[in-house]
Amino acid sequence: MKIKVDRELCTSVATCVEVAPGTFELDDEGIAIIKNEKGDTEGTILQAAKSCPVNAIFIFDNDGKQVYPEE
Ligand code: SF4
Repeated sequence: MKIKVDRELCTSVATCVEVAPGTFELDDEGIAIIKNEKGDTEGTILQAAKSCPVNAIFIFDNDGKQVYPEE
């Protein structure tokens, strides 16, 4: 599983950090970054992506196919 945060979209709401604190944190600019791709279970990470109000978190499977948001 691969995770990407779109820095342009992220509005620093930080719900992703609340849902998956092992995976996401806010950097100095208040933008979410991935501190550990395996910091939480895949289910929790997916839940974090779904919790983002602006859909700034993109999840890909190991083949590079986008899993969330669904295309
Ligand atoms: S929930 Fe979305 S907008 Fe909020 S910090 Fe995380 S990625 Fe950024």
